Amino acid sequence: MRLKYVENGYEILEACQQIITIRKATAEEVWSALPTHQSLHLELGTGMGDFLLGMAEQYPKRFFVGFERDTKVLIRAAKKTEEFETKNYRFIHLDAEKALPHFPDHEIQGIYLNFSDPWPKNSHAKRRLTHHSFLIEYQRLLAPGGVLEMKTDNLPLFEYSLKQFHKEEWDLQRIERDLHQTDLAEANVETEYERKFRAKGQPIYFLRACPK
Ligand code: SAM
Repeated sequence: MRLKYVENGYEILEACQQIITIRKATAEEVWSALPTHQSLHLELGTGMGDFLLGMAEQYPKRFFVGFERDTKVLIRAAKKTEEFETKNYRFIHLDAEKALPHFPDHEIQGIYLNFSDPWPKNSHAKRRLTHHSFLIEYQRLLAPGGVLEMKTDNLPLFEYSLKQFHKEEWDLQRIERDLHQTDLAEANVETEYERKFRAKGQPIYFLRACPK
């Protein structure tokens, strides 16, 4: 039964023009499947896609590329794409870690980390998307003037991330401990997790950083 569901799931992803699956492109080929003449922005871990789709609508001249490795979650995003006329985005059904090393240096204008898995155990710190090894990779990918933005409800992950950016000498342009009480709130595009945490009254932590 479960297998049947997943098989059907892959078919849904395969059929969606806005999703690149591993059958449509290998990790090495993802870059060549993108319109690389446009201003490219990456989201790592899109979840069900509200942010990627919202940003694509809000910034029609940019192109948004979202990585999501979870099939079931991406199926939900695939269904949402039917409601959007804008086409300046692709979801990639892959672990970002596998594809990003095949992207060239300094071609990305923006990287977004939204409510990334916190991996609270110290022994799992290497998996956090703001671990030093990821920051080195983001630095390689970002074009001059490119920025990384992070949102989270998780204070320990936020503090950890701030330390990592400081250590790597990134320029921390904004640090907010309650995003929705700032001037950034109006243009902010909400994610599914953000909506959930806000409904519980939790503050959203935000940072914007660029490599030096
Ligand atoms: N960003 C969404 C939001 O704010 O609502 C989802 C947050 S959820 C906690 C994290 C998501 O990131 C999960 O769906 C997970 O599958 C995905 N993810 C985590 N690491 C990833 C990676 N290396 N590549 C692709 N997806 C990843």
